[in-house]
Amino acid sequence: MAITGTETFESTSPADGETIGVFPRSTGEDVDRAVAAAKEAYAHWRLVPAPKRGEILYRFARILEGEKDALTELMTHEMGKVRAEAGGDVQEAIDITYYMAGEGRRLFGQTTPSELPDKWNMSIRQPVGVVGAITPWNFPIAIPSWKLIPALICGNTVVLKPATDTPALAERFVELLDEAGLPDGVVNIVYGGGSSVGDRMVRHPDIRVITLTGSRETGVKVLEAGAETLKHVHLELGGKNAIIVMDDADLDLAVNGIVWSAFGTSGQRCTAASRVIAHEKVYDALQKKLVAAVEKLRLGPGWEGDTDIGPVINKAALDKIHSYSKIGSDEGARLLTGGEVATEGDLARGFFYRPTIFADVDPQMRVAQEEIFGPVTALIKVRDADEAIRVSNGIKYGLSSSIFTRDVNTAFRAMRDLEAGITYVNAGTTGAEVHLPFGGTKDTGNGHREAGQAALDVFTEWKSIYVDYSGKLQRAQIDD
Ligand code: NAD
Repeated sequence: MAITGTETFESTSPADGETIGVFPRSTGEDVDRAVAAAKEAYAHWRLVPAPKRGEILYRFARILEGEKDALTELMTHEMGKVRAEAGGDVQEAIDITYYMAGEGRRLFGQTTPSELPDKWNMSIRQPVGVVGAITPWNFPIAIPSWKLIPALICGNTVVLKPATDTPALAERFVELLDEAGLPDGVVNIVYGGGSSVGDRMVRHPDIRVITLTGSRETGVKVLEAGAETLKHVHLELGGKNAIIVMDDADLDLAVNGIVWSAFGTSGQRCTAASRVIAHEKVYDALQKKLVAAVEKLRLGPGWEGDTDIGPVINKAALDKIHSYSKIGSDEGARLLTGGEVATEGDLARGFFYRPTIFADVDPQMRVAQEEIFGPVTALIKVRDADEAIRVSNGIKYGLSSSIFTRDVNTAFRAMRDLEAGITYVNAGTTGAEVHLPFGGTKDTGNGHREAGQAALDVFTEWKSIYVDYSGKLQRAQIDD
């Protein structure tokens, strides 16, 4: 069900300003209607056998496969990612859909002995009700799928509010779910800003779960607003992820990992490597190799085959990123490359920022502490593995982490001691696979995880069931 308001807003391409589409700006009443539709649909959707729900999702996965190229192309225009990454975004949705559709025949509970004779104990997962999904623009197909697909297989119904920068992709995603055969009202979409439409959802008494991916600031607001109705709030927030490069690392491999993690998606990934912590023995060599690799990257629209780096999402993002170049220089960091808006030729029509590397960064500088969410990374020099891990952990976020080393002892210490939800060894900070839990520690979230089996905990509640077939009153903890 799509909810239409009378006011509209435009979605435009960050690469050249092209109009992608015009969308209704939902009102508070539209949100209420969407929630009412989801609530009504919940009464029957929760009773559809989970394997049957799975069959609809398998169908959806196959539809997505057929639509992959079209969605990829649309993403290069509406969000701006380069084609390979846009294809990966859609593939992530296909992968999670196949994985979660299979949960229709699992959704395991537990059976366990009772402490009393002739008594049966078990626990089962039950859906929670109406889920409100609030999503960002940076993974415009993958993130809605990470939320909607597990919510649906568990028997919940959904109201989705996508980011205002990528409504066309969200609209298409919901149309395809419809095409797969979801009953009316099971998924509903509303459009509009966070503080209006999003906030209305968070405060709505009939929404039981809010799942948000966004910035830390938004997460705090949503947690506060959701407290009034004691909502389950699932938060996936920001990061300030670091790659550690030890003195025994394969430097060329590390450079590849850094370039991919720091500058892929123009640095607009929650798992982007916005810090590089290098051992003093390889610090200079790494700098040289890194700058040489980065200066070869070609900026351009995502749909052009030879583009390495697409635009950033909008003018506000461009301004914010550029302000950090000034902040870094003012703080005394040394600019190795980039630090400017790219305006030559057709780039002037979009929001392009040159890949930027700061060296000699102190771990406490703002460029080493704050999420910039753009193609900017900060090089920090350390003396040994202990200092590297201390610096990596010395931030408020805890999403992704990485270490390049060939020493198995150092690798295992890092796996144990890095304070993050994800650690990579000899790979950059990005590249999650859908069957493992995804999320972070500290200010990156509030203890939940997306994807994998862990996602089921967000979208179900446990019910414990005791069946006494003794024919008499038996008292736990009291009767022998
Ligand atoms: P954002 O916080 O500005 O917006 C995210 C969503 O929240 C949007 O749909 C927005 O409209 C909505 N929103 C904003 N204020 C709201 C409010 N008061 N109430 C309800 N909804 C509100 O984030 P963004 O700029 O779209 O995305 C970038 C951020 O997302 C970065 O911080 C990034 O690290 C984070 N992110 C995290 C993950 C993760 O899994 N941890 C993944 C991707 C992005």
